[in-house]
This record gives sequence, C-alpha cells and structure tokens, in this order.
Amino acid sequence: MKDEKYMRETLTDRTGRPLKRVRLQKRVELRRLYAAHQPRWRHPLIGYLASVPIVALGVAASMLGRQILGANFFFPGIPPSISILIVALFWGVGPALLSVLLATIALDYFYIPPSFQFDLMTLKGVLQILPFLVSGLFIAIIVAQRESARMRALEAEEESNQRADELEQLNEELKQANSMKDQFLSIASHELKTPITTIRGQAQVALRRLSKLPQDRPEMETMTTTLQRIDAQTHRLSDLVDDLLALSGLRSGKLQLDMSDCDLAQVCREVIEDQRLLHNRPIELTTPPVPVIVCGDSNRLNQVVTNLVSNAIKYSPSESPVQVRIQQEKGRVLLMVQDFGKGIAQDQVAQIFEPFYRTPDAVSSSKQGMGLGLAICKDIVERHNGRIWCESIPGQYTTFYVELPGAS
Ligand code: ADP
Repeated sequence: MKDEKYMRETLTDRTGRPLKRVRLQKRVELRRLYAAHQPRWRHPLIGYLASVPIVALGVAASMLGRQILGANFFFPGIPPSISILIVALFWGVGPALLSVLLATIALDYFYIPPSFQFDLMTLKGVLQILPFLVSGLFIAIIVAQRESARMRALEAEEESNQRADELEQLNEELKQANSMKDQFLSIASHELKTPITTIRGQAQVALRRLSKLPQDRPEMETMTTTLQRIDAQTHRLSDLVDDLLALSGLRSGKLQLDMSDCDLAQVCREVIEDQRLLHNRPIELTTPPVPVIVCGDSNRLNQVVTNLVSNAIKYSPSESPVQVRIQQEKGRVLLMVQDFGKGIAQDQVAQIFEPFYRTPDAVSSSKQGMGLGLAICKDIVERHNGRIWCESIPGQYTTFYVELPGAS
C-alpha cells in the first residue's frame, strides 16, 4: 500500500517532471490563458464586486413586485435568479456562487417573513429558501460545466497549436535532410561518373585490341565476352548516373531549362525515328497537320517523349504497336503515348512517378530499369507548368498523358 502511494507520487512525465504537479501547473496556466482571452471587464475580481449591486437589484425587484402585486406575486425567486444568471454568464462560477450566497442571505433577511431578521437557523426558514438555493446552485453548476468545456476546448486548441509547431519544425528538419540527401546524390553521381567512363573506355579499347589479335586461342572468346559484359554493365551504370544527375539537378533547380518555342510534333518524330531504329517496332504517330508549338526546352521534352516511348516498347509484347498522339485545344497541348502491354494495377499507378519505384511485375520481369525515368519526366513536365498522368486497364492498354500549355 505504501509502495503504491510512493509510486503514484513519483510518477513522472517524459521530461521527468512529477505528473501531478504538471497537471496542476497546466490547470493554473489554462486558467490564466482563459482569463487572458476574456475582456478586462469580465475579470472574476470585477465579477465579485459587481455581484453585490446586481444581486441587490434582483432582491429589490422582488420586494417591489411584492409591494405592487401583493399576494399575486407568485415567483419572488425569479429576479434574484436572473441576477445570478447575469453574474454567472459574464463572470463565471466563482462570482456566481457568491451571488447565490448573497441572494440567499438577502432574501432571507428582507423578503421571507418575518422581515428584517435571519431565519436560516430554523427549519422553516431553510425550507422556504431551499428551492431558490437549489435553482441558484444549478445555475452555478451549469456555468461551471460551460467554463470547463471552454477550458478543454482552449486546451485542445493549445495542444493542436503546439503539435502544429512541432510538425512545422519536423518538416523543416525533413526538408534539410532531403536537401542533404540530394546534395549527397549529386556529389556521389559526379564522383562516380569519371571512374565509370574510364572503365568503359578501357574496356572498349581492350575489346578493339582484342579483335585485332588472331582469334585462335579459346581464352580469347572468354575474354571478349567478359569485356563485352563490362562494357554493357558500365553503359547501364553510366545511364543510371546520368539519370541521378538529371533528377538531382531538376529537384534542386540547378538544371536550367533552355526555353524557346519548339514544335512538339517534330520532337515526337525525331524520338520515334530513333526508337524505330533501335527496337524495330511499329510506332504510330498522329499529329495535327500544323506544327504544335509549345514553349519549352526541346532537349528535355525529347527526354520525356523518349522515356515514355521506350517504356511503352519495353513493357509491351514485341509484336504489339505503340501509338503516339498529339492533340491541341484551347491553349493546351496533350501528348498521349499508348501501348497494349500487361498494364499497371490501379493502386500502383500513382506510385510509378516516385523515384526508384518499380511495379512488382517489372521487378520480377527480365526488363531492366531503376525506376527513375518517370520521376524525371514528372519533374521536367512540371517545370514546364504541365501535368503528367497515367491511365491503365491491366491486360488492355496503358496510356501516359502529358499536358503542356501551348505557346501564346
Ligand atoms: P524503369 O527504369 O523501371 O522503367 P520508370 O520510372 O521509367 O523506370 O518506370 C517506373 C515503373 O513504371 C516501371 O518500373 C514499370 O513498373 C512502370 N511502367 C512504366 N511505364 C509502363 C508501361 N508502359 N507499362 C507498364 N508499366 C510501366
């Protein structure tokens, strides 16, 4: 028993302060805050002072009522009750309780016969005043509840303000961590770029030298295959580093866009030509008969269309077509890249634009990728004040949309 009491006394909060004290302190702080929220004239001290004349008025009104109406004055408790109510509403529970006390004494002394003497010591006197006392106390209780509800609301508001401050601080820290991560990514990519290029260059030189030597020894073939693998893998690594550099450049705003009026239809034609040569796939292009002028960086827009078309080719069967369409209407240009592959499940569509996200299907397939292409597309499109999104019905089609403002 003693131990339990000791434990209760020594319970502390996260900061190590005793819980009970914190609670009490909090209540005092809340009261102070509550008082600070009220106008000056509603300070409890003024309420205590004001309750004397207000109650006096109420009791006087009752006596006046009795004088005017005589025996027909049925509810003498009402005027003092109104006085209590006024005090309670404006100054709270403390002054209200004082008003109850004052009104009870005054009614007893002035109103309840025999007048001008105290009857509260007798049972009859107590019974006569009891209904008024109870109703007065009820008013005080209701006001106390109202006050405590207001204080709770104030406490909740205080707490939510505190949480909002904490969240803001956390957000700031996250932003800092994020920018450090971007900085790290950018430095690491720059540092990786040189050795990768060197390794690739050396592998290509060795391959060239090897091809000039007589191919009569069996190790030659193994060496050639190894060097080709090194070349292919360093090519992949180099692409990845380029993507990382592009992404961190775009995110940090360091990568400047070279904006000028350019024909999006022409950009698509160039991309499609390259992709046809690379993959030997049917790619259909539908554009308006006139140039589709947008204000943008043609190299970066080329990167967007290349990513979308190469993805369409990569994630659909080799014999199926890829369609690229451009529409122009009401000052905006809409580019659509559609394929008829496996598609993307609804719950994954929103995530494919996040860096490094790959759908489970893509991860388990033999198709290589790092999940950066669409994140780069999104950043480029958004820096052109455009939008990119995807609609897909698994097993039927996948369409990527890019909406850009038309050149004015
Ligand atoms: P990756 O290098 O993996 O292709 P992307 O950022 O270009 O990276 O694409 C992210 C993911 O979106 C891909 O891994 C793939 O799961 C999905 N995806 C993109 N385009 C298509 C498409 N046309 N059809 C189906 N899935 C796609």
